[in-house]
Amino acid sequence: ESGTPQDDCLFCKIVAKQIPATILRETDTTLAFRDINPQAPTHVLVIPKVHHPDAASLAAAEPGVAADVLREAGEIAVEEKLDSYRVIFNTGSGAGQTVFHAHAHILGGRGLQWPPG
Ligand code: 5GP
Ligand code: ZN
Repeated sequence: ESGTPQDDCLFCKIVAKQIPATILRETDTTLAFRDINPQAPTHVLVIPKVHHPDAASLAAAEPGVAADVLREAGEIAVEEKLDSYRVIFNTGSGAGQTVFHAHAHILGGRGLQWPPG
């Protein structure tokens, strides 16, 4: 159920510190950690601590927390000294979403193609 921790959710387990991650930033509502399979020199995931299956569901249910995720994405870009970067919310398996706990990918440190493909 949205809004409550899910026993079978990888990112809920990272929030609960039951699975280790390289954590860069933590707030009352968010966690930022390095992706285990980086697709760029900087590849950080920013997640809400609360469980929602995707970014739109998060924004509909808890818009303030969705804003927190976006602000933290910007803070990561500053800390990683990224002048250009991309924020991606894969939504749905056809778009590459594999973890159904809302998360922003922050990608930078290399050239990024547009359109993304
Ligand atoms: P998605 O494909 O759902 O948009 O993004 C999920 C991301 O989570 C992937 O980029 C994947 O590499 C990352 N990931 C999967 N398992 C783990 C893990 O155990 N630890 C970390 N840090 N990242 C993970
Ligand atoms: Zn979760």
